[in-house]
Amino acid sequence: MQDSVMKAWWDSSHMAGANAPYVEELYEAYLEDPQSVEEAWRQVFDSLPKVEGTQLEDNHTTIRDQFRKLASLGPVARMSSAPATSTGGSDEKQVKVLQLINAYRFRGHQHANLDPLGLWKQDRVRDLELSHHSLSESDFDTVFNVGSYAVGQETMSLGDLFKSLNRTYCGSIGAEYMHITDTEQKRWIQHQFESVQAKPEISKDEKRQILKGLIAADGMEKYLNSKFPGAKRFSLEGGDSLIPMLKGLISEAGTTGTKEVVVGMAHRGRLNVLVNVLGKNPSVLFDEFSGKHDESLGAGDVKYHAGFSSDFATPGGNVHLALAFNPSHLEIVNPVVMGSVRARMERRKNDPNAVLPITIHGDSAIAGQGVVQETFNMSQTRGFAVGGTVRIVINNQVGFTTSKTEDTRSTQYCTDIAKMVQAPIFHVNSDDPEAVLFVTKLALAYRNKFKRDVVIDLVCYRRHGHNESDEPNATQPLMYQKIKKHPVPRQIYADQLTAEGSIEEREIERLTDEYRAALDHGACVVEEWRPMTEHSVDWSPYLGHDWDVDYDSAISVEKLKELGEKITTYPDDFKLHSRVNKLYQDRKAMVAGDKNLDWGMAENLAYAAIVDAGNAIRLTGQDSGRGTFFHRHAVLHNQTDGACLIPLQHLHDKQGKIDIYDSVLSEEAVMAFEYGYATAEPGCLTIWEAQFGDFANGAQVVFDQFLSSGEAKWGRLCGLTVLLPHGYEGQGPEHSSARLERFLQLCADHNWQVCIPSTPAQVFNMLRRQVLRPMRKPLIVMSPKSLLRHPLATSTLDELAEGVYHNVIGEIDELNPDNVKRVVMCSGKVYYDLLEQRRKNEQTDVAIIRFEQLYPFPQEECAQIVANYGHVKDWVWCQEEPQNQGAWYNSQHHFWQAIPDGAHLRYAGREAAASPAVGYVSVHNQQQKALVEDALTIK
Ligand code: AMP
Repeated sequence: MQDSVMKAWWDSSHMAGANAPYVEELYEAYLEDPQSVEEAWRQVFDSLPKVEGTQLEDNHTTIRDQFRKLASLGPVARMSSAPATSTGGSDEKQVKVLQLINAYRFRGHQHANLDPLGLWKQDRVRDLELSHHSLSESDFDTVFNVGSYAVGQETMSLGDLFKSLNRTYCGSIGAEYMHITDTEQKRWIQHQFESVQAKPEISKDEKRQILKGLIAADGMEKYLNSKFPGAKRFSLEGGDSLIPMLKGLISEAGTTGTKEVVVGMAHRGRLNVLVNVLGKNPSVLFDEFSGKHDESLGAGDVKYHAGFSSDFATPGGNVHLALAFNPSHLEIVNPVVMGSVRARMERRKNDPNAVLPITIHGDSAIAGQGVVQETFNMSQTRGFAVGGTVRIVINNQVGFTTSKTEDTRSTQYCTDIAKMVQAPIFHVNSDDPEAVLFVTKLALAYRNKFKRDVVIDLVCYRRHGHNESDEPNATQPLMYQKIKKHPVPRQIYADQLTAEGSIEEREIERLTDEYRAALDHGACVVEEWRPMTEHSVDWSPYLGHDWDVDYDSAISVEKLKELGEKITTYPDDFKLHSRVNKLYQDRKAMVAGDKNLDWGMAENLAYAAIVDAGNAIRLTGQDSGRGTFFHRHAVLHNQTDGACLIPLQHLHDKQGKIDIYDSVLSEEAVMAFEYGYATAEPGCLTIWEAQFGDFANGAQVVFDQFLSSGEAKWGRLCGLTVLLPHGYEGQGPEHSSARLERFLQLCADHNWQVCIPSTPAQVFNMLRRQVLRPMRKPLIVMSPKSLLRHPLATSTLDELAEGVYHNVIGEIDELNPDNVKRVVMCSGKVYYDLLEQRRKNEQTDVAIIRFEQLYPFPQEECAQIVANYGHVKDWVWCQEEPQNQGAWYNSQHHFWQAIPDGAHLRYAGREAAASPAVGYVSVHNQQQKALVEDALTIK
């Protein structure tokens, strides 16, 4: 076969991907004995070119590599037919032995002892039986070559090998890694497991630390149970190993260079982690149980959602720990953690080992919630990678009250979703805390080495119901009968250590008493706890400001021209697409003052001004480089070679960083990621742009649970800007409305800003205000679509240089206020429809006021404008959205307050409707005409 044909065959073949292991196995057998495979396969393999020097004992991964290499090499090389290292077994049996090793690597996990309760019904896996490979115990004394089996010896008796395979792959750890196609990764994991038979030596000191962790985990829950019986604490009991596991993980991370760790977890075991890992003062927790709380906090949140920050001493230095605040929505915190990690990582010179994300999942949630898939999909992308996340599943085998796997998932393991990115998965019996620690360190080493996600499935149980007042026997009777009799992990491990002589019983009692006494004192129980000094950002400049805080927004026309020239300059040999070229020529004319600025140019100039002043920008969205409506073109594409250029990145050496990434096709995880990023990076203008505004409802959880309420619940500021294209242009129900009403409905406590800028100068100054003003509040923007090119929606450089965002804009035409009989108030694009029609009508009796910010409502600025029309009784709110949508219901109280005493306020707009917009352009046009007429016609 020709080289290219061969390569194409491999690339497209059904033999690649999931079937590859099967083919490898066959090929391995074929290499040993061509007659051992079926004729059809023999023909395929016979047709492969041969490579010199291939040893028969090469392991299957080598063979796959070789298989690929062969495919790409062509028929130049000849395979040596050198025999395997001599063995006592027949060639045929030797093949079978290699297949047996392979079978254990692939499927050993299915016979591993993973369930502490012993309730899992493991299917019989015939591949793991000697007979399946035509071997038997009578071969036990025969010595075979073990190929790449990494036990440090080339040959073993079958008896020893069989024992070793069972110890390595069928003990307390079930390793799933053979789905990884990268040979180096697979070999590396293989080596880690096989070289120590999955059971490395553990020092006495480490054993003691593990025991102390279990004593703490157990002691804490018992203490809470006795002090606050029946109170909800979502006990960790059953999954106690999580505590020594996390401490071991953080300690190892610190030793290998990590400076910050961000943890995301749901409620299960959270109080335990807060006290026993992060070092939250137990007395504070006890106060919370007793109903006391810090009055300085806002609305607050329940104690099992609280975050916490501290430092943790490790042999490699102190590590900063941040446990992210989270809502009840189980998995949504994961992308938030990833975003926070990305921000911290970038601050630390993009060193992925400097910041470690740890996400802790539930077994039902990791399989059930789609956002998990989204985060896996993001994990290796340019804009969202964080150098791999260590993901831990607290697999207590029950989701709320649902335990049967046939009800909670369609996969064998809850972790199968991780295979989509070929993450290694280590299932581990949590009653074997040494095995837990082993896989934990291994997972970290893998993550740091390969910068990829890795999963630890901590198979445990839940000693109580979903919470402590639940009765689990009602739904899981057999499981809970078993749990009742099952010794606690501390007891099991203490017994093990005393039996092997690693610790004396008296010492165990002493440690237990000491822990209890520490809780009685209410003092921090984590020896490694240190006061916070290692976190990488200071939020104090952003605290305690009001909306009218002073900030320097001055910018000169000269500066704007200089920046404008820079961002419209690109190398001569960089060939732009003709449409983009036209746009850039227009932009050059705008800079020269020959043309007014359009939206795209003003927006790009805002970015230029921001990074020129040293602030950073991060802009993501599904189409953010170009802009959904072909208006932004901040990322240029060379038509000759496809190369990309972001002129905004080339202003000067001291400018702030600007990153613009087209995101994965997700709203939920991406928005959550950007929320996480913005809550960890106040110096950056972080922007998420929806392709169309209504797609934001794919991220509804993030708006409700984080963006609108995070500050009120947790005191966490966030300056995220959300651009939501909105406007009624006859595009039908889906892409007309960004559902303004929903954002307005969530407005209270000055939680965020809702803006509808209507001119290029306004967008310029709105974006700059968001980062220059030392407040950090989310900014929701109804951003334009057709307005991007509306001939009236242009601005001058002088208007940009004014440096002020006007929250409300009064009449722009020269109308004598005394002649005005009606004032129409509005927001957004409909303003231009009203303006044009009024001009056409040559009307002078209707004034138009535009609200550019609907929340916080600009009462004072509005009052100044309204003062001109104190005599007017006829006030109208005009909107494009149906009456039950848009601003009418949610902002009406502000409008009533704004108009003069005794005046009347009326609605002009579409009738209430179930759907955001009609599907027929003709009906849309009629409606639009009617609402404008209604607003302007004085009868
Ligand atoms: P962290 O690095 O997330 O552990 O945060 C360290 C400290 O910075 C916290 O204890 C807070 O005092 C402060 N901080 C972090 N993030 C925010 C935020 N989004 N808003 C206000 N303060 C914050």
